[in-house]
Amino acid sequence: AADMLRENQKLSTIGRLAASIAHEINNPLEAVTNLLYLMGLDDRLPEGTRHYLELAQREMDRVVRISKQTLNFYRETNAPVRVRISELLSEVLVLYTRRIAEKNLRVFEEYESSETVMVYPGEIRQVLSNLVTNAIEACAPNGRLRLRVTSTRKWSDSGVRGIRVSIGDNGGGISAEVRARLGEPFFTTKGQHGTGLGLWVTQSIVSRYGGEMQVRSTTAPQHHGTVFSIFLPTNMRPRAVENENGLGGGPDAG
Ligand code: ADP
Ligand code: MG
Repeated sequence: AADMLRENQKLSTIGRLAASIAHEINNPLEAVTNLLYLMGLDDRLPEGTRHYLELAQREMDRVVRISKQTLNFYRETNAPVRVRISELLSEVLVLYTRRIAEKNLRVFEEYESSETVMVYPGEIRQVLSNLVTNAIEACAPNGRLRLRVTSTRKWSDSGVRGIRVSIGDNGGGISAEVRARLGEPFFTTKGQHGTGLGLWVTQSIVSRYGGEMQVRSTTAPQHHGTVFSIFLPTNMRPRAVENENGLGGGPDAG
C-alpha cells in the first residue's frame, strides 16, 4: 500500500506539471475549435475538404475532453484553503445543468455535514467534476443522481475523521471485468467518447490528500446503479506545491 501511494504521488506531480501548461493550452484550443466551426459554415467547401474538416473537429473534441478531465480546474493558488465540500459540489453541479436537463435526470442532494477541509479547491472541483460526469453518462434518460456529503471516519483507519462525498447514479452498474481495471490510465468503455483519464486523475488527487475512494456497484438483473465515494480527512493538509510547475524539492520530493 505504501508503494501504491508513492506511485500515486509521482503521478500527481506529473499532473501538476501538465496543469502548469493548462491555461496556455486552453486558449489556443478554444480558438482552433471556433475557427473550425467558422470554416464549416462556408457552403462552397468541396466535399473532400468538408470531410477533412469533420475529422479535424472530431479530433479536436477529443483533445478538449482530455483537457477537461485532467487540467480544467487544476492550476491555482499556492496554498490550500478551508472550504465546505458541499459548496464545491453545488458549484460543479451548476456546470452540468444543461446535460442534466437534456437527459431529464432528477438530482437528490443531501448535505448533512457543514465541516470544512483544507484543500486546493481546483483539485477537488476536478475530482467532483470527473465523478459527476461519469454518473451523468451512466444514467439512462429520466435517471437519478444522488449526491451526499456526510461527516465520517476513514474506512481503513477509524481514528481519522473527515468527510465523505458520495455520488450515486441508477445507471447500468459496473461489471467485474470493468471494475478490475478502474483507475487504469486510458481504460474506457466509452470508445471515442471516453478518455479513461477521469478516475485515474481522481484517484491520484484523492490519495495525495490522505483520502480514499470506494466504489459500490450492482448490475442488472438486481436493482442496479453505482455509488462512488471519496473520503477526505478533516485535519490533513494536502502536500504543498513547492513551485509553479511542481518540480523541485519539496519535503517529499525524490
Ligand atoms: P471515461 O469516463 O472517459 O471512460 P473514467 O476514468 O472516468 O474514463 O472511467 C473509466 C470507466 O469506468 C468508464 O469508461 C466506465 O466504464 C466506468 N465507470 C466510471 N464511472 C461509472 C459509473 N458511474 N457507472 C458505470 N460505469 C462507470
Ligand atoms: Mg469519465
